[in-house]
Amino acid sequence: MKYYSTNKQASEATLEEAVAKGLAADKGLFMPYAIKPLPQEFYDSIDTLSFQEIAYRVADAFFGEDVPADTLKQIVYDTLSFDVPLVQMTENIYSLELFHGPTLAFKDVGGRFMARLLGYFIKKEGKKRVNVLVATSGDTGSAVANGLLGVEGIHVYVLYPKGKVSEIQEKQFTTLGQNITALEIDGTFDDCQALMKSAFMDKELNEHLQLTSANSINVARFLPQAFYYFYAYAQLKRAGKADNAVICVPSGNFGNITAGLFGKRMGLPVKRFIASNNRNDIFYQYLQTGVYTPRPSIATIANAMDVGDPSNFARVLDLYGGSHEAISADISGATYNDEQIAETMKEIWKNEHYLLDPHGACGFRALQEGLKPDETGVFLETAHPAKFKDTVEKIIGEAVEIPEKLQAFMRGEKKSLPMSKDFADFKKYLMEI
Ligand SMILES: *Cc1c(COP(=O)(O)O)cnc(C)c1O
Repeated sequence: MKYYSTNKQASEATLEEAVAKGLAADKGLFMPYAIKPLPQEFYDSIDTLSFQEIAYRVADAFFGEDVPADTLKQIVYDTLSFDVPLVQMTENIYSLELFHGPTLAFKDVGGRFMARLLGYFIKKEGKKRVNVLVATSGDTGSAVANGLLGVEGIHVYVLYPKGKVSEIQEKQFTTLGQNITALEIDGTFDDCQALMKSAFMDKELNEHLQLTSANSINVARFLPQAFYYFYAYAQLKRAGKADNAVICVPSGNFGNITAGLFGKRMGLPVKRFIASNNRNDIFYQYLQTGVYTPRPSIATIANAMDVGDPSNFARVLDLYGGSHEAISADISGATYNDEQIAETMKEIWKNEHYLLDPHGACGFRALQEGLKPDETGVFLETAHPAKFKDTVEKIIGEAVEIPEKLQAFMRGEKKSLPMSKDFADFKKYLMEI
């Protein structure tokens, strides 16, 4: 399958090129030319299939023309070595727990899938080293670094904002060593993202190095997240609750929800989506006004959603032909400040004995407030609450147990390279590799 750029000024790319470049030459995001609907028979029997079986059918629709069937199947099955359970919380609200992977965040699936796909292409082509840049507001760095750890032919540079990620998050990508280098940027997440984008646009740098991105701008990172939506639907169907399904996604860069919108385009019977924002509510404002106005991000307790200019907004626009009306018909918005997020976490812990993380709390609350009586809501619980231990403990006034997987990271020694937010410094560093 060929990929075009959302800016329509770059030449088309193969899957391999799209994955190895990340961003198109005109700064646009790659989009597949076709989004193939899956047959009715698949939806009729989806509740009898496993997560891996469902995911393979979805992956085949996107990548089947470019990757041999047995290889693709292996990539999907290796990626999904953990479950994504649907947990009923109230009569009509379910939590899809996406945090049972190695770094306890939903980005594990995209990170692991991309690592395996890129690994396959590197091996097939005998390519020189691919340098993966990833800007992180906390969770992406760990998922991508752990996904790509030790993969031959790949080196990962994680750019993260100094002092703006939790200690646990930081430990998950600064303690790994091997082919992972952590760059501690004296700036915000937006600065990290801007550095990365500038690097892709720099001609000299790209002649010197093969650079790609492992952020959700990369098709191999964001598309596999569609698996979640199909599996959520399958589990709802099993529970006899699949009619009028509403999926609510705590959103930052909008990669996750965009994968869900692709799913809907493939025929997945989701009635509508809700994008839940923290105070960085650029998308929410867009829905209200029809005008997209990016602005500098502000720090919140749901820090993985502190994004001031969501990169996948370009894909959402493209998918709906730029129509605000069409976008608003499929997606509604919500926005919560830190006090509201904390209040929800506290209330749900007390009343339902379910511990939400700050991101999932935005998702839950939007359903609690916006669900109609005949609808069933699923929100994506995007990270394990222990990843935000200090925040969560302060809010609920109790100690939070740290899963062993996280404790293992905590025992590692942090190694990072401090760097300014000036592109000249970053470029100089990369030119010396
Ligand atoms: C990355 C992340 C989000 C936001 O996902 P996007 O795909 O960027 O919209 C939400 N919650 C958590 C915990 C995350 O790590």
